[in-house]
Amino acid sequence: MHQVVADTLNRHRYDAKIDLDEAKQDALLLLREGFKQSRAGEYRHNKQAVGLCEHEYQEEVTDKEWEGIRDRIFRCLDNFFDSRVFNYIRETKIENWLPVDAMDSFEFETMKIYVAPDFAIRNHRGNAILMDWKTGRVGDQGDILQIVCYGLYAKAKWGMDPARAIGELHYLLAGDTRQVSLDQETLDEGQNQMRGSIQAMKELLWDPVENHGREEDFPRTENLGMCRRCNFRRVCRPELAAPPE
Ligand code: SF4
Repeated sequence: MHQVVADTLNRHRYDAKIDLDEAKQDALLLLREGFKQSRAGEYRHNKQAVGLCEHEYQEEVTDKEWEGIRDRIFRCLDNFFDSRVFNYIRETKIENWLPVDAMDSFEFETMKIYVAPDFAIRNHRGNAILMDWKTGRVGDQGDILQIVCYGLYAKAKWGMDPARAIGELHYLLAGDTRQVSLDQETLDEGQNQMRGSIQAMKELLWDPVENHGREEDFPRTENLGMCRRCNFRRVCRPELAAPPE
């Protein structure tokens, strides 16, 4: 989904327009390619390859599930092509698009924080609009924290005062948009959450300076029902995972 939206915007950037039907065909192609890669187990030796939990654990993906995934992607694309933001981006001069790497980072109180905003643009007031395409449910609390990180990233990368950055969360499945202003209160709250989260992770480490943990400090749950649904059971409880094909 993210790949198709990025490709769509890039093609518009170079004036090679793409319509909704083409975007859907591209999405279908990517979906099929990813599925094939995953079924062939390419993810075991290629980090960039798609890997589905279902293939790792030899679980069936039914036609109904497959169609459900395809329909959700198509609905996201319908909403994206129909959205005000897509029009807005197309009407904005290319020189006001802000460069965003697929994966970037910034320092937060000596910690390296990785971010990957989907798109960023400078508006006519000189403010940065940092956008994220979401395919999940609307209003997840973590989404605001993500925008706070983008605001701090905008400061580190472009020297922009976070107060001049606006976050936009575009929920493509629901066709909904939320704006997040990075006022001092939102920033303070977000940074406090980040500190708390970093501290909580460090407290679990045997050597927080070297970022080392000890396996015995992380006992396994006795709730085997949870383990049977866990993506890490191959390494953690191999007896619950069928051997790889
Ligand atoms: S298999 Fe998953 S849920 Fe079970 S103990 Fe290991 S990590 Fe935890």
